[in-house]
Amino acid sequence: PVLLEVKGLEAKIAATGQQILRGVDLTVREGEVHAIMGKNGSGKSTLSKVLVGHPDYEVTAGTATFKGRDLFALEPEERSHDGLFLSFQSPIEIPGVSNVDFLRMACNARRKSKGQAELDPLEFYAHVVPKLEMLKMDPTFLNRNVNEGFSGGEKKRNEILQLAVLESEMSILDEIDSGLDIDALRDVAAAVNGLKRPDTSVLMVTHYKRLLDYIRPEYVHIMEAGRITQTGGMDLVDQLEAGGYATLSTA
Ligand code: ADP
Ligand code: MG
Ligand code: MG
Repeated sequence: PVLLEVKGLEAKIAATGQQILRGVDLTVREGEVHAIMGKNGSGKSTLSKVLVGHPDYEVTAGTATFKGRDLFALEPEERSHDGLFLSFQSPIEIPGVSNVDFLRMACNARRKSKGQAELDPLEFYAHVVPKLEMLKMDPTFLNRNVNEGFSGGEKKRNEILQLAVLESEMSILDEIDSGLDIDALRDVAAAVNGLKRPDTSVLMVTHYKRLLDYIRPEYVHIMEAGRITQTGGMDLVDQLEAGGYATLSTA
């Protein structure tokens, strides 16, 4: 079954009117892993953010459905409750809110929308500790404020911890590999692989083959000037590594 279907998606920056997405088509089925690559500024993060409903962008044409529902008719929170997750390229700090409270609130909001009972603090602790261990995160991270003073690598681990806690069906991981040393990359990739289920999908945005060696995509897309201009397998990545984006450009 199709999880995410994007057709002819166009979007502009709300504040300036600048057109960024110029007709994106993308279909992601349950169980699939996709990667989007493309030059800086081609619109990869914009696509990710438009799908989760970031207020900086305005959709001007096209459609997107998630589990068959019109994504753009849903509030950002509803998209998250429905199982759509975005790991931000630059995760934000939330001063004054402890990580464990934030995670439990997000988890319970999603559970509630699935008709499941909310977890009390003790139950939540039991739910989250194995996930911390999977990410090799120290339990003290639970009591710190969300991302406050976290290193780049710790923020990325914390993003995947959120994904693990939410048990989202569709995860969009925007440059999850940026700023990670090789050990952290292995841990994060192992966690993402460990979270895969037959009904979940992953959409990774990355510049580097390294990540794709750890989380193998079935489909690789090249984004160029706000559109997906090519789709293939790992062979596209090898072409890129050999000759750069110029060899793949259709412009
Ligand atoms: P990528 O992730 O592929 O590197 P982005 O989607 O981040 O590209 O950006 C695409 C283009 O849109 C860039 O030129 C970027 O500067 C611009 N852009 C994206 N978001 C904003 C914003 N909120 N305000 C102004 N310009 C933006
Ligand atoms: Mg970029
Ligand atoms: Mg980006």
